[in-house]
Amino acid sequence: MAPRTKKPPLPVEPDPDEPRADAAPQAVPHVRVAVVGSGFGGLGAGVRLRRAGITDFVILERADSVGGTWRDNSYPGCACDVPSHLYSFSFAPNPDWPRVFSAQPDIRAYLERVADTFGLRPHLRFGAEVTELRWEEEHTRWRVTTRVGSWTADAVVSAAGPLAEPKIPDLPGLDGFPGKVFHSSRWDHDYDLTGKRVAVVGTGASAVQIIPAIQPAVGSLTVFQRTPAWVMPRADREVTGVEKWLHGKLPPSGLLRRSALFAIRELQVDAFVRRPQFLKLVQQVALRHMHRAVADPALRARLTPDYRIGCKRILLSNTYFPALAAPNTEVVASGLRELRGSTLVAADGSEHEVDAVVFGTGFHVTDLPIAERVYGVGGMALAEAWKDGMEALRGSTVRGFPNLFFLIGPNTGLGNSSMILMIESQLNYLIDALTTLDSIGATAMQPTERAQRQWNLELQHRMSRTVWTTGGCRSWYLEEDGKNTVLWPSSTSAFRRATRHVDLAEYELLKRTAPLGDALDPEVVPV
Ligand SMILES: Cc1cc2nc3c(=O)[nH]c(=O)nc-3n(C[C@H](O)[C@H](O)[C@H](O)COP(=O)(O)OP(=O)(O)OC[C@H]3O[C@@H](n4cnc5c(N)ncnc54)[C@H](O)[C@@H]3O)c2cc1C
Repeated sequence: MAPRTKKPPLPVEPDPDEPRADAAPQAVPHVRVAVVGSGFGGLGAGVRLRRAGITDFVILERADSVGGTWRDNSYPGCACDVPSHLYSFSFAPNPDWPRVFSAQPDIRAYLERVADTFGLRPHLRFGAEVTELRWEEEHTRWRVTTRVGSWTADAVVSAAGPLAEPKIPDLPGLDGFPGKVFHSSRWDHDYDLTGKRVAVVGTGASAVQIIPAIQPAVGSLTVFQRTPAWVMPRADREVTGVEKWLHGKLPPSGLLRRSALFAIRELQVDAFVRRPQFLKLVQQVALRHMHRAVADPALRARLTPDYRIGCKRILLSNTYFPALAAPNTEVVASGLRELRGSTLVAADGSEHEVDAVVFGTGFHVTDLPIAERVYGVGGMALAEAWKDGMEALRGSTVRGFPNLFFLIGPNTGLGNSSMILMIESQLNYLIDALTTLDSIGATAMQPTERAQRQWNLELQHRMSRTVWTTGGCRSWYLEEDGKNTVLWPSSTSAFRRATRHVDLAEYELLKRTAPLGDALDPEVVPV
């Protein structure tokens, strides 16, 4: 065989984005903190980290923009149900809220502005769904695996959201339904509901906003209601130009407004957590509200709850009952049992032909999806540690998972006030933990078994008197066995006090005894 003459390779400009074949394997970048999620929690974490002088962090977001809840929930009528001047960051007041209860696009735009104003863009990584968080004991750090690469981190902040993963019931025949199906938090804006026969499944916080928004446009609306909701009047209105001007020119006026909104809600807490009998008065207001809008006694009967108000989240709407009483709406006082072709069969056996089904059936809450991706000391899965119910110390840290800090962790939800208050309290705790670790020369911390057990015993003791336990309902706050692992059974001020400082007596400390990358057992530092 004739020897092949070797031609010189064509000169090709190297593609800067293409990894070179002869390049050394990329080192996994290490950061001080990896934050999962870019909703209120993740962005708030970014702001507070920077303010604490910690700039070595990434915010990993699976979607392609910030906003969390307020990016994903774009259904017609979506708005907050805590007044905007309280449902926003204390460190980023917005004098320009357009309404008392602002709509989703305004809240989303606010969060985009927060990302810009506080210099968070360089920290954000989009498309970076975290697929695994694994504690590397030998290095005293987390390995964070995402769809766009891996990081290692001293600490991880989980801000993956309490209501981020839609829950659609596994109904017989759903796959064979020939029409359109979507969940409230994944609204298909390309599908026009005008004139269609539409079913809404569920009567919770999202459905109560969707139903009045779509009822005038659809041909017919069938609402599947397993349990009726208590609905109170919604004191919504436009914020006037004078108010906006005042809050812009005189910031203390905005602070005063926020403080008043805060105080009103703090005063209500006692009725929810200690004296549910006081809620009977509120129940009368809700009943009158329904009676004013619904004339038909049979429909009223279907819409009257048989449990104490507050046991499930109290909904606010002036348009929900009129929409249910409209001639093109039918309320089926029963859950959806199965689908047969385009026929929806309710649990009461009634059948309903529809073109589209909208599920307002909520989220995976007590079975928090991120827990299935977290592996702590000894490779233990967080989902396994939580198999009998979610549990943390001060809603933030979990034994066996050092330096993992939750925002809106177990038992930090609220029934009546702004979740941003809870997020900000947990951010105080996070920053205090990180600065404390620095100041004492430790690398990581995890709660002692005793501290975590004690915290939860006391918390569940307080829970036993609350309306969520005694009110006679089954809500999404409860685990299968009825334990409430979602809500905080006290005031937001009490939570703020409980998370102001880290109490080192509640923690075991770990110290990295070798440089990063060297395999050595962490040393337990006695406190
Ligand atoms: C329709 C609706 C209305 C609401 N209204 C109110 C209200 O009026 N008042 C109130 O107090 N609360 C309200 N809430 C609760 C609301 O969820 C919280 O107030 C708050 O927005 C939660 O912020 P978050 O950052 O913790 O979570 P989210 O806003 O849910 O953000 C979580 C982020 O994490 C990302 N993420 C999740 N998993 C991963 C992963 N594995 N890898 C990477 N990224 C991930 C998600 O994409 C998302 O961007 C409402 C919730 C809903 C659904």
